[in-house]
Amino acid sequence: MQELLIERRSVAYFSMEIGIDEKIHTYSGGLGILAGDTIRSAADLKVPMIAVTLLYRKGYFHQRLGEDGWQHEEPAPWAVEEFMQEMGPRVKVTVHDRTVHLRAWKYEVRGITGFSVPVIFLDADLPENSEWDRTLTDYLYGGDDYYRLCQELLLGVGGIRMLRQLGYTDVRSFHMNEGHAALLTMELLDEEAKSAGRERLMEEDRKAVQGKCVFTTHTIVPAGHDKFPMEMARMIIGQRDDFFNLEGVLHDGHTLNMTRLALNLSRYVNGVAKRHGEASRQLFTGYSINSITNGVHAATWISEPFRQLYDKYIPMWQKDNFSLRYALNIPKTEVWDAHMQAKRKLLDFVREQTGTVLDENVLTIGFARRAATYKRGDLLFQDLERLKGIASGAGRFQVIYAGKAHPRDQGGKELIQRIFRAKDVLAADIKIVYLEDYSMKLGAMITAGVDIWLNTPEPPMEASGTSGMKASLNGVPNLSVLDGWWIEGHIEGLTGWAIGNGLPENPQDRNHSRDAASLYDKLERTVLPLYYQDRERFIDVMRYSIAINGSFFNTHRMMQEYVLNAYFSC
Ligand SMILES: *Cc1c(COP(=O)(O)O)cnc(C)c1O
Repeated sequence: MQELLIERRSVAYFSMEIGIDEKIHTYSGGLGILAGDTIRSAADLKVPMIAVTLLYRKGYFHQRLGEDGWQHEEPAPWAVEEFMQEMGPRVKVTVHDRTVHLRAWKYEVRGITGFSVPVIFLDADLPENSEWDRTLTDYLYGGDDYYRLCQELLLGVGGIRMLRQLGYTDVRSFHMNEGHAALLTMELLDEEAKSAGRERLMEEDRKAVQGKCVFTTHTIVPAGHDKFPMEMARMIIGQRDDFFNLEGVLHDGHTLNMTRLALNLSRYVNGVAKRHGEASRQLFTGYSINSITNGVHAATWISEPFRQLYDKYIPMWQKDNFSLRYALNIPKTEVWDAHMQAKRKLLDFVREQTGTVLDENVLTIGFARRAATYKRGDLLFQDLERLKGIASGAGRFQVIYAGKAHPRDQGGKELIQRIFRAKDVLAADIKIVYLEDYSMKLGAMITAGVDIWLNTPEPPMEASGTSGMKASLNGVPNLSVLDGWWIEGHIEGLTGWAIGNGLPENPQDRNHSRDAASLYDKLERTVLPLYYQDRERFIDVMRYSIAINGSFFNTHRMMQEYVLNAYFSC
């Protein structure tokens, strides 16, 4: 009886990528990390969740950077059997008139009290499948649109079928983490019709399915919204006119738009920060779109020295992240000592990886995120003379970069090259390193070990951003453009500093010189003087970062909002 109760799962969380562990290469960036953090918090808080994703035996990719900064991709396979357990049941999905067999692997994410959330990884690498179909769960974000839609069909339809096979029949909320899994609605619709003894879908099925689905949209960048032409959808999904003709399934009558499908078939929809909710409401008029601001899983991203500090002064912090507000009582010298330990660890790593020796007494700026052009990783280098002037005047600083570009993102790859060029030009004045192969491990080390976390997206493109939250939890203040979560977390001079006024740049200004100028001013007049001349006040900002932002921008708080507003409401 007890077993049965524990195994009941009311929330099924579907995500194209999930960042479980450094060694399991099933994530590419923020979306996957958020999914992993969501699951870790669900486990800590005993939320009865089960998660579903694809296996990606060949992973995303390992990044190698040439002398010239050009990115090369290498395969990133990993040993599935070392981490996961194969499960018995198999399911079949018809993909472009072929039958694709799927099996499942299970990974248990265990929370602090021992409660665990199973993560189901769907795997098409079975002898029953054709050689080509066996590769369908090999690559995350690899292949063309055809490959992608096949994957999304497996995730959505295959995922629901697998859950049913595994005995999860009383799920109340199906949470689509981004639109990739939106085809799960088709399977749920079919279940409704079937249980009513009908062959064809009807409007009442749509209402019933809508009552079961929750959708989180994560971006307003157009490339983040999957769209497939009708002919391709018909070919891969099948001649399902009853589905395609149902209200809300097709956009404009001829495009399968995964975001629209999820919007139309969910009872609760949210963006991932307040500003992103607003931007999404403008982009998708006519929908009720809420916002739940993202967070990060505190215990995952806090460095060892800070973990010990919190254990000593705030013993309940892991269970109750809100209690991090008491960080204001931790003696400043201990905050600084913990920070310096994290910084030394990072600088040691930098020396081992790059041969560059950075000075632990120099203000260190960190910037690590996907090399996507809207994140403007090179904004710092708009005016190299000005930058040199700041370093020789207001105070020295050094910069640590990391981040992968998507293999087909030419602009992102060129962005990395521009950073390399600036690095060479500035070599005599400002030390800059670019660490290869950004990953969870690197992310944790960099966000904890630098003195300032820099964030320069083009507003309003950064839906939330989460790396700055990791920095806050480690007492690292943010210096950031007012976009995404920072609009909510920013208190000038108290939790960090703003760059610019949060409005989009004048489109005529190709150099983005307004935000660059603001960045230089803040660095020169505020951040460097504070760091070098008023360390006490600088440590105040570190403590407020933890107390005000660390205590709030975590996935424990976020999960509580999903539970209250999305999963168990209605
Ligand atoms: C935290 C993290 C991200 C997301 O960072 P953003 O600030 O949202 O861009 C991406 N990749 C890795 C490896 C991370 O640890």
